Formats: sequence, C-alpha cells, structure tokens
Amino acid sequence: MKRILLLLFSLISILIPLAMKSQPVNNSQYQIIAAMPQKLQWLPFGEIKPTGWIREQMQKDLDGFVGHLDELVPDLMADSIYGKDRLTKLVKAKNVGNIGIEMDPQYLWWNSETQSNWRDGYIRNSILLDDKNHLNKNEKYVAWLLSTQDPDGYIGVYSKDLRYNFPDENGELWAKTTALRGLLAWYEYTGRQEIMVAIQKTVADVMRNYPVNACHPFKSDKPFAGGLTHGLMFTDILDRLYQFTGDKSYLDYALFLYKDFSENILREDGQYSKIMDTGYRLKEHGVHTYEHLRSLTAAWFASGKPALKKALDIYLRRIDQCATPSGGPIGDEWVGGRIADATATGYEYCSIHELLDGYCNLLQKTGENRFGDKVELLFFNAAQGARHPEKSAIAYCKTDNSWQMTGAKNGEPNEDGKQTRFKYSPAHQDVAVCCVPNAGRITPYYIKAMWTKDDEGLVATLHGPSEVETTIKNTKVRILAETSYPLGFTIDYRVMVNQPAAFVLKIRKPDWAKKISANFDYTEKEGFLIINRTWQSATDLHLEFHPEIVIMEDQQKAKYFTYGSLVFAKPIESREIVTKTFPVEPFRDFAYLPMKKIDYLYSDEKKPVIKFDAEAGKNQFWKRISMKTTLLNEKTEKPEPVTLYPVGATILRQVTFMMKEDDDKKIK
Ligand SMILES: [Zn+2]
Repeated sequence: MKRILLLLFSLISILIPLAMKSQPVNNSQYQIIAAMPQKLQWLPFGEIKPTGWIREQMQKDLDGFVGHLDELVPDLMADSIYGKDRLTKLVKAKNVGNIGIEMDPQYLWWNSETQSNWRDGYIRNSILLDDKNHLNKNEKYVAWLLSTQDPDGYIGVYSKDLRYNFPDENGELWAKTTALRGLLAWYEYTGRQEIMVAIQKTVADVMRNYPVNACHPFKSDKPFAGGLTHGLMFTDILDRLYQFTGDKSYLDYALFLYKDFSENILREDGQYSKIMDTGYRLKEHGVHTYEHLRSLTAAWFASGKPALKKALDIYLRRIDQCATPSGGPIGDEWVGGRIADATATGYEYCSIHELLDGYCNLLQKTGENRFGDKVELLFFNAAQGARHPEKSAIAYCKTDNSWQMTGAKNGEPNEDGKQTRFKYSPAHQDVAVCCVPNAGRITPYYIKAMWTKDDEGLVATLHGPSEVETTIKNTKVRILAETSYPLGFTIDYRVMVNQPAAFVLKIRKPDWAKKISANFDYTEKEGFLIINRTWQSATDLHLEFHPEIVIMEDQQKAKYFTYGSLVFAKPIESREIVTKTFPVEPFRDFAYLPMKKIDYLYSDEKKPVIKFDAEAGKNQFWKRISMKTTLLNEKTEKPEPVTLYPVGATILRQVTFMMKEDDDKKIK
C-alpha cells in the first residue's frame, strides 16, 4: 500500500511540473535592456557618524539591549550554527527560543537570523560609537566567522549532506545574507581586503551551486517557506558587491533570483504576477512583503525594464495603503488584505526596519526626494514610538493608538496568554528574537543614508545631527551638521576642506518645509537645495526649515496632528507591570495598563500651538516639544485642553481622533 502511495506521489510530483511547464509563460519583463545607473552612492560605512541626540540614544542602546543581547539569550547565541553545530540530516530539533512545544524542522535556521541580525546591528553601533571594548568583541567574531569558511567558499549553516539541495523550506541564502551584511560593514570600516575576498568567495560558491538561469533555488513543495523567501534578500549582498566591483554578473544574478522567486508557487506578496494582478491585496507575512521591495528595486535597476518599474510603482502604492500615520506598516504579523487602521493594525519592529531600509535604498538608487520623507516619517515616528522612551526595551508589535500593552493588541481577548508581542522587552524570547536585533540595526541604517555622493559632490539626504568625513575629487571634506532635528528646525553646517575645492553640496528639502531661510546662495531643483561653489578651509551655513501644524486625515478618516516630520499623540497615563526580570541587570519586560480609558474626539475649537521646553525634557529628548490643543472628551462631550507629544515620547497614547459625527456612526 505504502509503495502504491509513494508511486502515486512521485507520479503527481512529475506531472505537476509538466503541467505547469506546458503553459506558455511570458516573462519578457526579465529581459535585460541595460542596467540603470544608480543616482547616488553610499559612503563607506563609518564615514558618517552620529552626533547629538542620535549618538546619545545609540550609546544607551549599546549599553543596553544591543550590547547585551548575547547575555539575555545566551542559549541562542551559543549555538555555533555557522561552525561546529551546522545543521545536518541528523539534527531534528534545536532550541530556537520560542514557546512552541512542537519543533518544526523549518525553524532550524532561526538562530542564524537571530545571531547575524544582532551582530550586524552590534557591529555597526560599535563602529559608529568607536567603542574599543565592543569593537574588540566584534573583531573576534569576524575572525571566527571567516574561520568557518570551507575551502570551496561555503559560509552557511548546512553540512555537506544538506546544502543547496532542498525540497522546500530552508535558510541557505538567508543565513548567508544576514551574516554577510555584518561582514560587509566590517570590510567597509577596516578596508581589509581578505574580508572582501571571503565575501566574494561565498557568493561565488552560491553562483556555482545555484547556476544563473539554470536552476530553481525558490522551488518549494510547500508554498509557505519563510526562510527560503527571506533568502531573496541575498539581492542586498549582490547589490553592494556590484557597487564595489562594478561587476554586472552580480546584478544579473539578483534579477535571476527575483525571477525565480516570482515564478514559483509561494505565499508571498512581492511576486511579479501578484503585483500585476489588479484585484490583489497585500496579505502575507508583513516583514517579507516590505523587505522584498528592495529585491524588486534591484531587479528593475539590473534590467532597466519599464515593466518592472511599473510593478514597483504598484507595489509602493499598495504599501502606502498599509501605513498608519506614524508610517508603521501592517505586520502583526500577517498583512491580511487590510488597510491601515491606527487602532486595529499593528506593526512588527522587523517590518519598520525592513521598510525603512527599502525606502533608503530607493532614495539612493533614484535620488528622489520623496523617499527621504518616507524614511524620516518611519524613523522619527513608528521606530521611536515602538521603543520604550526611557528603558532599554522595545515593542515587538505596536499600534499607533496604543490603549494597553499587556501582550495582546489593545486588550483583545488573550485567554491562553499566547499573544505576548504587544509589550516591551529587551529580548522577546517568548515569541522570537527577531525584532530586538532589528531595533539595533535601524539607527545605523538611518545614519548610513544621511549622506550620499553623486557625480557632482555630496548630498545631505536625511537630516539629523551628524558628522561626515569623506573624499570628494581628491579633497578631504569634513562636514558637521549641528541640529536637534526633527525637534528643532535649524541646521548649522560647518563645511571644512583641506584645500580649496569646487564641488556641489546638495541638501534635501523635506516636503513639509514650504518655507525655508538660509544665509547662503542656492538654487532649488527637484526638492534639493543646490550649493555650487569653491569651498575654502571652513564655511558656516545656516539653514532653517519653517514647518506648520498640519491636521491630516488617515485612511479611516480620523484626524491627526503633525509638525514637520513629527506625528503627535495624546499620552495616556498608565500603570507599569514588570512581567519578567532577567538575570542581567537592569533588564526587565514591561506591560502597561491605562489608568483611565477616555477616548478623545477631534475638535477644532482652538487652534493648536507648538511649545518648546528644553527643561521639561531634560532626560527625555522627545518631550522637549509639545502641542497644546483642544479635544472633545467622549464621556463628558465637552472640549478639554490637552497637551500632545511626539509619539516617540509615549507608551500608551492616542494618535488619531474621529470627528464626532463619524464616531456616532460607529457600532458600539
Ligand atoms: Zn520581528
């Protein structure tokens, strides 16, 4: 009987691919016209350094969850998954740190993601803060990772009996992607050639075992294969290698990966045919949906095909529908065909990071100003608002309107207590240690995109306190940008050169800055201020953006308040509950319950005003700015004066406010 069944299964498995093959596939969208030039170039990692509040926050992170995650989840970090504990056919279970009792083999690559995403953030924080102790630790790690490389170039998590040969779910490309990102950062920082050689050898091994256009790395017997499709992000590595070497075979390979990903049966939103299906709604695992934006971008730039550009535009519009006022994209954890809702749709920290990096990547490749606004919205709002404002802990999942943080979303029923994502933790080991590592990556990734180069000179692409030191046309250039942006709106640049040099400095003008003032001459083009001059030893430039309070409407027709790139919230007074104490001080998990639950409605009785108070926010940067306005208390039906703060200053909060007549229509 078993034999007959087996025969039947093998027949089906032969017939299905045949049936699929017999359908004519029009895949001209993948034919290469010509690789497109990338408008802006990244600076080597480490040339841009944080200053001011960003540096202070990073130092807190390095002293907190970024610098100590290995002590908080020692069992996950001790697994030598790239080394002596590589996965073999004999390994059937591994401690990967979630609460599930049954262990599905598909999860066995998980520790590679946990370790390598954490390392990538940890390496980048150590470099940017120039912290000798942490740099030493990372130096040792890099040496160890390089020592795991086999003579054929293999760096990864599988023994010879498993590698490059899977019927479905696997972490082959994903484990490499996460590890190589950290190695790339270390190479860019140290300039050590043997690291570049090791990275190229790893990639060559992949390209030899998964030959371009002659195999199907994304073929999977099961349509849901999370590790496999995370592996599409190998395009990140290929893109960066192309930028260093100019070798177009890396781009061709990125295009091949996107094509093969698109042509297999997989539960993913980013596949070409789904994007072109006009009735399709984003519904799959959010973090994949947002990270795959970069692979689609890579495919477009590799081919120069207008069809892929069209797909990208559709995909971007779909993602916009998923964004709440703070920019947080639906991902709690499935998108589920929903449209963003400030109370009902949550976002995972991983999704915030991946989408931010997708927009940074588009900003670099297209040079389009609008992507800078998207990055700043996410970084200054969703990303800050999902961190604990004082303690070293982050929310795995968060909503814009946050009524309670006790595990389940806004107090939804949680009888079995399994939903623990909506709380603050420095690890979140009870779900998965994915979001904390990504919360350590997001700030260095923002910083790497603050300054870029183009053919004419240097570009201030994202704003905030920073310092950049680079070479333009053989001249050493150092620029300090002093500002408390996004709380303050003046930026004082000091441009220093070691010899007189003619180059162009461009400064991105945020879309909300309808008025600006400056003490220098400039022209304006496509949302950039252009300063073309011969620079002498040191030049001071003073720039001021003039924001206005704008009352916006979200996709649910509720009102919310913005000023510059900040979204404001009414804080809800809360009670703190410590739900876990770690053996390492001072780390804790925290839950929050509201003291009083009052829903506020929009009222236009009084015009909101902005207040700055450096003293009030002495220990809390985000509290230095506030907005005074009036809102309607739903219980008393009377207007009340209220003070709103940037979402980054809050734990429990209300961001969006319904109009009374819309609220009355709600089913209660
Ligand atoms: Zn996550």
